[in-house]
Amino acid sequence: MTNNLKYFIGNWKMFGDFGSFKIIHKINQYIYKNKKFNKSKIVLCVPNTLLDFFNKKLKSQLVSLGAQNCHQQEGYGAFTGSVSALMLKKMGAKYIILGHSENRSEGESYEIIKRKITSALKQKLNVIFCIGENYKEKKNGKTFTILRKQIKGSLEKRFNKNKILLAYEPVWSIGTNMIPKTNELRNTIKFIKNDIKFFFNTNKCPKILYGGSVNPKNIRLFSSITEIDGFLIGGASQSSKKFIDIIKNYYK
Ligand code: PEP
Repeated sequence: MTNNLKYFIGNWKMFGDFGSFKIIHKINQYIYKNKKFNKSKIVLCVPNTLLDFFNKKLKSQLVSLGAQNCHQQEGYGAFTGSVSALMLKKMGAKYIILGHSENRSEGESYEIIKRKITSALKQKLNVIFCIGENYKEKKNGKTFTILRKQIKGSLEKRFNKNKILLAYEPVWSIGTNMIPKTNELRNTIKFIKNDIKFFFNTNKCPKILYGGSVNPKNIRLFSSITEIDGFLIGGASQSSKKFIDIIKNYYK
């Protein structure tokens, strides 16, 4: 993973069909024509059903593809309806989102996420590991305690930290148009960076992204927080215009 890049990672969730390739195509063209964005890494995490199709159609590799989850089991196994990191890798995924709050809310434990990260790293996928507090935890002043628990609960010191991006996604901010106050966010990102450095016993911190209701209008607020290494963008990544405008406005 190259180090001084800003990441713009789209999470399409359960949206899209073959025709949605036009979204990726437009983003790809835009990046190609605007060389100043070569300090950015663009990734789109799409439904599994589209990975292989998009991968074959994407001739230039300006946009990388990612998946949104995998089964904890490595390789193959009797797990109806599931896919493994190995299978996703074979379909063209270079990145994978793990620990997303929408999956945690369906019962994904810290241990399960740890196993998923282990199998994704074995496949040399770049892991986008999501952490974040819910509204009640925030109100009760528990944000840092929760973040630390999530980090310690699912990461292992032996993991290759260069293949891990941490996405701080306050659960109350996902899909709600509510975003953290600038100062609060800066402090939280600093907290995560220090915690991770301590955890991995290193000075070189993995990239820390922010995710939660990022859009073309509010991206300027985030760009002032230089500690943020990039963004995980849900709803707005399903529109090429919104996604491109986010990148454009970030660099304004
Ligand atoms: C997400 O699902 O990771 C996310 C950040 O969603 P949204 O941008 O829609 O809040």
